[in-house]
Amino acid sequence: MRFSQMFSPTLRETPAEAEVISHKLLVRAGFIRKSSAGIYSYLPLGQRVLKKIETIVRQEMDGSGSQEIMMPILQPAELWLESGRWYVYGGELMRLKDRHDRDFCLGPTHEELITALVRDELNSWRQLPLRLYQIQNKYRDERRPRFGLMRGREFVMKDLYSFDRDEAGLDISYQEMFDAYVRVFSRCGLDFRSVEADSGAIGGSFTHEFMVLAESGEAEIIYCSACSYAADGEIAAAKMPSPQEAEEGEITLVATPGQETIQEVAAYLQIPESSLIKTLFYKADGKIVCVLLRGDRSLNEIKLKNTLNCFELDMADHQDVLKITGCQPGYVSPIGLTGSIPVYADDEVRLMVNGVAGANQKDYHFKNVKPGRDFKIDATGDFRQVQAGDACPKCGKKLKSARGIEAGQVFKLGTKYSEKMNLYYTDENGEKQLVVMGCYGIGVSRTLAAAVEQNYDKDGIIWPIAIAPYHVVIVPTATDGEIFQTAMDLYEKLLGSGVETVIDDRDERAGVKFKDADLIGYPIRITVGKKWTEAGQFELKQRREKEAELLTPQAAIERVLSLIAAGTTSA
Ligand code: ATP
Ligand code: MG
Repeated sequence: MRFSQMFSPTLRETPAEAEVISHKLLVRAGFIRKSSAGIYSYLPLGQRVLKKIETIVRQEMDGSGSQEIMMPILQPAELWLESGRWYVYGGELMRLKDRHDRDFCLGPTHEELITALVRDELNSWRQLPLRLYQIQNKYRDERRPRFGLMRGREFVMKDLYSFDRDEAGLDISYQEMFDAYVRVFSRCGLDFRSVEADSGAIGGSFTHEFMVLAESGEAEIIYCSACSYAADGEIAAAKMPSPQEAEEGEITLVATPGQETIQEVAAYLQIPESSLIKTLFYKADGKIVCVLLRGDRSLNEIKLKNTLNCFELDMADHQDVLKITGCQPGYVSPIGLTGSIPVYADDEVRLMVNGVAGANQKDYHFKNVKPGRDFKIDATGDFRQVQAGDACPKCGKKLKSARGIEAGQVFKLGTKYSEKMNLYYTDENGEKQLVVMGCYGIGVSRTLAAAVEQNYDKDGIIWPIAIAPYHVVIVPTATDGEIFQTAMDLYEKLLGSGVETVIDDRDERAGVKFKDADLIGYPIRITVGKKWTEAGQFELKQRREKEAELLTPQAAIERVLSLIAAGTTSA
């Protein structure tokens, strides 16, 4: 490609609204342009990267026994009413009506559509297992579309669905998809980690997320470097603490005038924050519950939500708390709470012996509180947010934390959709059985952005060679004469060897060309200039390296081919 002809408008200025580096660089380097919030056009460079990722995904999906199909984006409401998700999916579902006033939505995902598709064609056990996938635009009216391609309202997803005869079959599909995902992200040249994740209260199933490690990631990953444990912070667990062995004291009222926060009370009574009992009130689908945590802990709302099996979970407001306890926040307590409010205590609270809790009375707390003795507990469980430094639930060593971008997820659906939408097959004995399903998504456009979040420097993007828009940019320092002719010869030779090459033939200073090459992030740059005239050599510089190598034309071509081979070998 001649750069002079490429539709690749680079910008010197960073777009004002861009918060993360991938958004800034992809706009500046001319890969994408915004159409409206969370909706983008891909310019030629962006489209090439997208296609490269898609190709890797397609090869790995096809290679693991899946078949590509294409389903409609426009989906009738009837299917979503059948599955029960028309109302549950909420504001994220892009809804619309046709001229006959019939309801439709733009597919955010395709469980409904594919279940209906397969249900009409599936008869015998002989047709299973079956794996079908597509790569297509998805639509979600995200509450906060942001970070460029990372959280869009229109984005490209690969979604695959597996259909098996039983759980054992699903286990195999799940594992094979998991392995295929490892190959996809390795081949894209990304540093990633698979983590155990939340399947929601209703799924109640098994799932892993594939996280691309990056500081800007919206997700927290909790992992252990001593063993294999790794989980999304939303569900990460820590080892159960051992019971405290202290002698039980007698519950005593103490004055804590003006001391309202955990920090204030701990400092005032000269005790660690971990000796306090934090009392919180939540509304689960409108019903008030009391939640207790150790003072130094914070609540993990997802864990609580899954335990309560509710749709909506919000903090109770000030008025509610006042009504329940007769007291302002700061001194609220499970002690003396009326029987109708269920009390959920985190495991750590259950094991406390001489804790400090509020007294439901302004300016007072209780000390020597023993949960179970001094107040009732209705249920205990793991409700706390695990932090780096907590003990690994598997091996007990200290856990660590990192940030990640969720690029893919594999999920055991079981019979959730088959039951709701009547997807059966007939087994060897002629009996009707429910099909057991799995679903597997990769955010193709989010992976593109994640690759940038992980590969950049102050000058621009540094594409992993496997997904780079082009492998090589040739920069001739002149636009005519021998230098230019030699650069054109090299260009033709590289193209002839299958190397994806751009020649920057613009009438610009070399400095400008270098700047754009760095911004766009071609993995390899070959300069034809002074060193050619003086010594018959090209300067080959890898985007990731500081120094250039001086090579003869033949050696330069060989070097390019070996770098490409090293960067694109299958995992
Ligand atoms: P998130 O928690 O980030 O909203 P999700 O759990 O809703 O993601 P899935 O329904 O599992 O996502 O979708 C499969 C994949 O699609 C995700 O792993 C992610 O890579 C991608 N994806 C989801 N939502 C978006 C979005 N708004 N923009 C871009 N990619 C997305
Ligand atoms: Mg989402």
